[in-house]
Amino acid sequence: MSSEDDQIAAEELQPEETPELAEAGLDEQHRWSELADQINDAQEAYYGLDSPTMSDAEYDGLMRELEELEKQFPQLRTPDSPTQRVGSAHRVTDFAPVTHVQRLLSLDDVFSIDELTDWLARTDRLLGGRKPSWLCELKIDGLAVDLVYRGGRLVSGATRGDGRVGEDITPNVWTIAGIPHTLPGSGHPELLEVRGEIFFPIEGFADLNASLVEAGKPPFANPRNAAAGSLRQKNPAVTASRPLRMLVHGIGAHEGLALERQSQAYEVLTDWGFPTSQAYQVVGSTREVLDYVAYHGEHRHDLLHEIDGIVVKVDDLDQQEDLGTTSRAPRWAIAFKYPPEEVNTKLLDIQVNVGRTGRVTPFAVMEPVKVAGSTVARATLHNAWEVKRKGVLIGDTVVLRKAGDVIPEVLGPVVDLRDGSEREFEMPTHCPVCGTKLRPERESDKDIRCPNSKSCPAQLTERLFSLASRHGFDIEALGWEGARGLLASGVLTNEAGLFDLDADQLMRVPLYTRTAKKSDPPEQVVDGRVLSAGGHKLLANLETAKQQPLWRVLVGLSIRHVGPTAARALAERFGSMDAIRSASVDDLATTEGVGQIIAEAVVEWFTEPWHREVVERWAASGVRMADEQPSDEKSLPQTLEGLSVVVTGSLTGFTRDSAKEAIIERGGKAASSVSKKTDYVVVGDSPGSKATKAEDLKLPILDEDGFVRLLESGPAGLGKA
Ligand code: NAD
Repeated sequence: MSSEDDQIAAEELQPEETPELAEAGLDEQHRWSELADQINDAQEAYYGLDSPTMSDAEYDGLMRELEELEKQFPQLRTPDSPTQRVGSAHRVTDFAPVTHVQRLLSLDDVFSIDELTDWLARTDRLLGGRKPSWLCELKIDGLAVDLVYRGGRLVSGATRGDGRVGEDITPNVWTIAGIPHTLPGSGHPELLEVRGEIFFPIEGFADLNASLVEAGKPPFANPRNAAAGSLRQKNPAVTASRPLRMLVHGIGAHEGLALERQSQAYEVLTDWGFPTSQAYQVVGSTREVLDYVAYHGEHRHDLLHEIDGIVVKVDDLDQQEDLGTTSRAPRWAIAFKYPPEEVNTKLLDIQVNVGRTGRVTPFAVMEPVKVAGSTVARATLHNAWEVKRKGVLIGDTVVLRKAGDVIPEVLGPVVDLRDGSEREFEMPTHCPVCGTKLRPERESDKDIRCPNSKSCPAQLTERLFSLASRHGFDIEALGWEGARGLLASGVLTNEAGLFDLDADQLMRVPLYTRTAKKSDPPEQVVDGRVLSAGGHKLLANLETAKQQPLWRVLVGLSIRHVGPTAARALAERFGSMDAIRSASVDDLATTEGVGQIIAEAVVEWFTEPWHREVVERWAASGVRMADEQPSDEKSLPQTLEGLSVVVTGSLTGFTRDSAKEAIIERGGKAASSVSKKTDYVVVGDSPGSKATKAEDLKLPILDEDGFVRLLESGPAGLGKA
């Protein structure tokens, strides 16, 4: 335990403390007060009310600016500046105060690898040649608690508060699963103070918010606030009803327990039944610390709880004591923060989109905001039920989350920023595009649909666009604008006539024409225009598309639930459109990869006369409706029979789909996730976490050349390499 005196002595050691001569002018003083006020308000909302009004990234930005300002003008730094203390300056609370046996501190943070390596080097230097071991841990995004055990019995649980005095939440802590009330065995230390983080498992978060909204209460903005709000409840029964968990990350005062290293404390605490993270690691070099940071950056979403960074600590407790603390944070630990994935933005409107199968989906229209490397202005809200469940109102400030490649999601509203002008979203009763009355397909469905699939322009456009996509007929010259143009000009009234299109018809679609030049043959010129290169290409593409295998034709029909996987399975088993059309639900459902739901959707689709007409018109135009036996796919040597291959990253000679297809065509399984059952992992440029997982599992990894050899000759083609 380090005494206050030791801490002050150590504080004088602080390396960057050089006296500053610059005088702070009125502008700087004004900015300082402004920042301090904003931070104080944000802290009160965050710590006091468990209901933040700004994102963590915004808060961290303000705090950084204040730190910089104080570094430049040290005379501005007051003892109660937000940079000098732990937690909020406000002390108003419903809970009784508890003075911690030993102070609970915050952590200094760094936001880049350079800052982290500087910190490691500086700490190393401060230790004067005594080489530190680094204890690397996950920075759990929850709230800190302090548990006091006397004689092996839990006697007190408290929040961090201002670091010296916290709130007494003992009855609430008692309700949390996994926190031992009595330590097993005998010979426990007389006094033991254990620190840890209480978190709300991500999995239960959406359900909690839905139940709050249903009960007319404000939802939480994110799992961290759900944890804080659930723990700081006057009625412990409410805390008990929430699935809170704890992970230990520190040890405070202790008597009768000899410890040399913090990691050793974790081992002892684990033996006593405390929930300790399995993810900590003690390493000896900067390289290994950086590897830890990189690994968990990739895997931060594989966890039960959210993390906002990594904490690196000096493992040796004597070295920790020598380094000491500042007024708010230990010098022997640092938090490395990952780039933020949550930002706040304004929900300007909720609009609806009518999809290819008529599903009407509300989506959020937001003030564009940068998050996780891209600018986001829209996010799906799935259905009206989901909008209600999230409790968002149009005009709300909302928390938007975007994690890496994952689709952006609106987590919830910032209720405290409402000014009364917000309004509830009303799901339209009629299709916004064709005016048909919307209805759910089955009474129990949460989705509602436009039943006018035959002529709703929105559905037609989506269907045409989708059938031409790489997953369908692969008609390159028919994109979104092309689909709109063909329908808007009246050249197509639905997809039935697609394969009958000719040059005369395309001349009526401006997108597929261009102004005629003198050199154009006069017989091709109509009203000063001729077919453009895109128009010629579309006609050529359509001819080629007629020869596509049966599964692509099936995908092109937009039968609900029938995507490429189910379509391949059906085509493989039945071989022709006629056979599929005349099969019963039971028969279809016995196809591997095709269950009852898909089978019912197929049979139901064929009961509609205009659907059958589409198939007949396509067949009459020459679209192939049966796979020849052996089919195209079978005619390739089955070099990958029985093998499971995963492709990650981008390859030069293959798109994501064509690589997948190449595997399937050769009898292999193109798996989407890496597991012990994966036979080969093909790694291209900028691979994702699958490459790391493949390394962890020691699976054979191939580059693009290796992949080509594998396709051509199977495993034998790889030779010893
Ligand atoms: P902090 O959360 O950045 O770091 C200190 C805390 O980390 C510790 O008290 C502990 O509870 C926790 N922690 C998690 N895992 C840990 C581990 N393995 N080892 C040690 N500690 C671990 O600092 P802070 O002072 O508690 O809060 C500041 C942060 O809180 C800000 O950076 C911001 O993200 C957030 N905040 C946000 C707002 C807002 O308005 N959005 C307001 C105040 C604070």
